[in-house]
Amino acid sequence: MPITRLLIANRGEIALRIHRAAHEMGIETVAVHSTADTDAMHVRLADHAICIGPPPAAESYLNTAAIISAAEISGADAIHPGYGFLSENAQFAEIVEAHGIAWIGPKPEHIRTMGDKVEAKRTAGALGLPLVPGSAGAVSDPEEAAKIAEEIGYPVIIKAASGGGGRGMKVCNSPDQLASLMKQAGTEAKAAFGDDTVYLEKYLGNPRHIEFQIFGDGNGNAIHLGERDCSLQRRHQKVLEEAPSPVITPEERARMGGVVSQAMADMGYRGAGTIEFLWENGEFYFIEMNTRLQVEHPVTEAITGVDLVREQIRIADGKPLSVRQEEIEFKGHAIECRINAEDPFTFAPSPGLVTAYHAAGGMHVRVDSGLYAGYRIPPYYDSMIAKLIVYGRTREGCIMRLRRALEEMVVEGVKTSIPLHQALLRDPDVLNGDYTIKWLEEWMERRES
Ligand code: ADP
Repeated sequence: MPITRLLIANRGEIALRIHRAAHEMGIETVAVHSTADTDAMHVRLADHAICIGPPPAAESYLNTAAIISAAEISGADAIHPGYGFLSENAQFAEIVEAHGIAWIGPKPEHIRTMGDKVEAKRTAGALGLPLVPGSAGAVSDPEEAAKIAEEIGYPVIIKAASGGGGRGMKVCNSPDQLASLMKQAGTEAKAAFGDDTVYLEKYLGNPRHIEFQIFGDGNGNAIHLGERDCSLQRRHQKVLEEAPSPVITPEERARMGGVVSQAMADMGYRGAGTIEFLWENGEFYFIEMNTRLQVEHPVTEAITGVDLVREQIRIADGKPLSVRQEEIEFKGHAIECRINAEDPFTFAPSPGLVTAYHAAGGMHVRVDSGLYAGYRIPPYYDSMIAKLIVYGRTREGCIMRLRRALEEMVVEGVKTSIPLHQALLRDPDVLNGDYTIKWLEEWMERRES
């Protein structure tokens, strides 16, 4: 039975993004929302809307029973989880499938394996992906940890097996700090993720963050759509992303893309996924896999012309991938700016009433956002309110167009990160593509002093 009515278990720009892909395929949409999002754009545009609970996400966007009931009541035959919330919850995926509803995501067992970073590393290693040197699995004994750290060499990074969103990591510079930092990391991981399992990795001094977009059909066929460079980060959170990476050659893209797509084919992976690497001195080191659509997916869409959400829906519907590897061409350059409702330089959140709004436009300019004048940004959720994605035939042309588009964007009533992006796009290092994951925080420090 083809998908005819799709429930979107998310909010904000990604809910809108999914709604648009569905409508272009002739599929009806069902929005679910908290009482804080009654006036949200995706709720207004969807064919059906159901309120699933109060503002706290635990009682609405993470409320499995309410979401499944909404699907049953509305007659939805598929659920798209977007990113965040329930997107990487294997149990939720199983419940959806047990109800005979199509799950627009990977097989639950793959979500589970990749959601545990220790298991994910083991699996990636077995599939032939290059790993960051580190412990073979979880470590709990400080003496064993000290031995491993000695072998791989300091500094090391202690990471939570269940970690995510850049949280639960501790850098350790010397043996005398190791035991206490491990204990701290374990306690923090337990509090944040309900799991105190940690593992060790070599802390790379100055890498870039480069990730590959992959797609599998679940039957042993997989493709890659090239890489994205997400090195501009603050507190391990991405700020601006670009595709292609300024440092990856076409040969390297084809080689590494071949490695990751072969790994996904061998795994029998289904749907969209991202394989994240750190890249230093020309070498790739796997850090984790995200078994979902990413915030930054539009830069890949811009340079390949492939609609990733449409592909996700097709695969969940049992259709083959619509493109073959040899049909994918990487053309031009795209950059995404994440626009948050926050102070551009202190990053203090700035929710509230949007008094005026004007989206940038023109050739090759895409704004994914649910904003409108008169919209009140609720304080309960992520501060990202818009994504500005700009394409150019060359990286230089893309940056010129992006600067022009940022000038045009108007968001009044709240503070936004637009001035941060404007400052970044005037910096010679950013213009030269000469930055690593450390760069933005060092730049912020230089600015403050
Ligand atoms: P999360 O799931 O919390 O996002 P990741 O494993 O993807 O965690 O790491 C997030 C970021 O943390 C990376 O993009 C990088 O900036 C930094 N990081 C992670 N592992 C290392 C490492 N071994 N060495 C240096 N930096 C690292």
